[in-house]
Amino acid sequence: MAGPSGTTLALDGDGLETVIAAVRQRGYTVIAPTVRDGAVAYEPITSAAALPRGVGDEQGPARYRLRERDDDALFGFAAAPSSWKRYLYPPATTLWRARRDEHGTLLFDESAAAVPRYAFLGVRACELAAILVHDRVFAGAAHPDPTYAARRRELFIIAVHCGSPSGVCFCTSMGTGPRAREGFDLGITELLDTATPRYIVEAGSPAGLELLESLAASPATVQDLEAAQAVTDVATEHMGRHLETGGLPEMLQRNLEHPQWDDVAARCLSCGNCTMACPTCFCSDDVEAQAPDGETSARVREWASCFSHDFSYIHGGTVRETVRSRYRQWMTHKLGTWWEQFGTSGCVGCGRCIAWCPVGIDITEEAAAIRASDGRGRGSA
Ligand code: SF4
Ligand code: SF4
Repeated sequence: MAGPSGTTLALDGDGLETVIAAVRQRGYTVIAPTVRDGAVAYEPITSAAALPRGVGDEQGPARYRLRERDDDALFGFAAAPSSWKRYLYPPATTLWRARRDEHGTLLFDESAAAVPRYAFLGVRACELAAILVHDRVFAGAAHPDPTYAARRRELFIIAVHCGSPSGVCFCTSMGTGPRAREGFDLGITELLDTATPRYIVEAGSPAGLELLESLAASPATVQDLEAAQAVTDVATEHMGRHLETGGLPEMLQRNLEHPQWDDVAARCLSCGNCTMACPTCFCSDDVEAQAPDGETSARVREWASCFSHDFSYIHGGTVRETVRSRYRQWMTHKLGTWWEQFGTSGCVGCGRCIAWCPVGIDITEEAAAIRASDGRGRGSA
């Protein structure tokens, strides 16, 4: 239960406030769950008072609702609609600007925006796994993405081991949760065994240890550690979904002509919601943002979706003309060919694509349906 550093403390609600204050004193902007527009949203906070007290959620296919809990939990819900990726890989990033000077000469400005120093508070295990996936995509290549790499370098992560999975969660299937194992600076378990929540906090990095050692708090007892372990043990038993992952990439690859792709294509709207909500989807498009006077212009990288008709446009036409081909591309990449490309699954089991698909398409059900009649349709057109 103790983090890699071996230090674990027990804090009350005021103790959590001191953690936030200590993080802020070190120059970080704390981003944490809040409630906005009837949903949990990760936003800047300055105090634990902004955390969603006594708030839970209900998630299912095409369904997301907040609900009132019968306790004062501050982390009593599952993954929020919008993931942390919007902070490390923003929806729009200006790559460079150009302007024409008084002589008509074009001048280019590639200066990057100031790098924010974020501390993410409340990162679930699946979401942490998604950040580690993006580390491989953006920072592990021969040419790291400078925006991502700079933001990631400055990041402090406070994970919250999950005690409240939703009806769409399947992190246990993907081996990513509900307990975060690596990649955090501090790891917190919320205990609800007393009138007010308590927090068991472990260090997962030298920076986390330094912060933890600056706090005046008691070490966690053996009973505390057992209670913390029980939180994620119970969460494991309450996963909303299951995905059979054994041989999954190969299974999908040999079923590229399975009739289930036609079935899902008849339901899919090709809206791209699943890709926007997914914490690992990373496709982008570069667009020109020209000022109306024609004097200045900017090249902006924006999130894009492989469900867009034009996404696969190359000279002469679009490669993936049909919804069938676009859904198949998305799912076989996410669960299959991502392994070849990045050495990991592209899915961490957060369930967002299920909850935020307007017609309730469920990636676990689609994979199960293909597996149930593995080989059907092979060789057909
Ligand atoms: S594919 Fe769906 S369940 Fe998997 S990480 Fe993306 S949004 Fe989450
Ligand atoms: S699977 Fe659902 S969310 Fe994704 S593109 Fe199709 S309709 Fe939209």
